[in-house]
Amino acid sequence: MKDLPVYTSCLLKRNVETNDDEIFDKVTSSGTAYYKYYAITNNNTEKVYVENFQEAEEVINKLKEKNSANSDKLGIVEKYETAKAEFKDVETSVNELYEKKNTYVDPYKYIGKTVISEASVPTNLGVTLIRPISGIISSRFGIRARDNHKGLDIAAPKGTAIKAAAAGKVIFSGNGAGHGYSGYGNVVVVQSTSSVVILYGHCSEVNCRTGEEVAQGQIIAKVGSTGISSGNHLHFEIRYNGSAINPQNYVYN
Ligand SMILES: [Zn+2]
Repeated sequence: MKDLPVYTSCLLKRNVETNDDEIFDKVTSSGTAYYKYYAITNNNTEKVYVENFQEAEEVINKLKEKNSANSDKLGIVEKYETAKAEFKDVETSVNELYEKKNTYVDPYKYIGKTVISEASVPTNLGVTLIRPISGIISSRFGIRARDNHKGLDIAAPKGTAIKAAAAGKVIFSGNGAGHGYSGYGNVVVVQSTSSVVILYGHCSEVNCRTGEEVAQGQIIAKVGSTGISSGNHLHFEIRYNGSAINPQNYVYN
């Protein structure tokens, strides 16, 4: 039955002898056929069509079980149209509608340095910084945007050259795991003054060695997504006397 169209009623003469087949023929020739089915909506936009309500409900329940990011935005709309839509089965519908939740994990949750308040940030670092890369700011320093995000994230393609924002001595270069820089992946740490240390995290490769002196503007690493990272970006962190401070007070502002 589910493949048969649903028909609107229409009047037939009573004084004519007829049979079911004849009625069926008259209805199909003179009436308009409507198909009843269901649309599953995401954010009020029809995305997939299924043949019956049970399937629509099943799709939504499965998406909720899978913790799909759009679980709260899904809906079911009853359709009553003169043409059939292209129907999808439950599994296909679930796959098409599923949206992964953003699973970004901030590396600094594992490091435990204190973020100092804006008020105690020095107006003059004692060094003038240049931008290590050009790119799009994808996450700001934690005080304003994200809890305990101790740097500034700048998204750029893998392999983009990272320049030293300030001159200094490389106090660490390489995979930070087990060296006090877990989560940063390949990281370069440059000490510029007795108070100022700059970290460049998640690099695809490093182009300087621990102990080396680097000049401002020198290419010290390449952008990547190593360590705890969800995509290619530079994590640019400035520490002043050991505490992370907001890089946008000095650069990218
Ligand atoms: Zn970051």
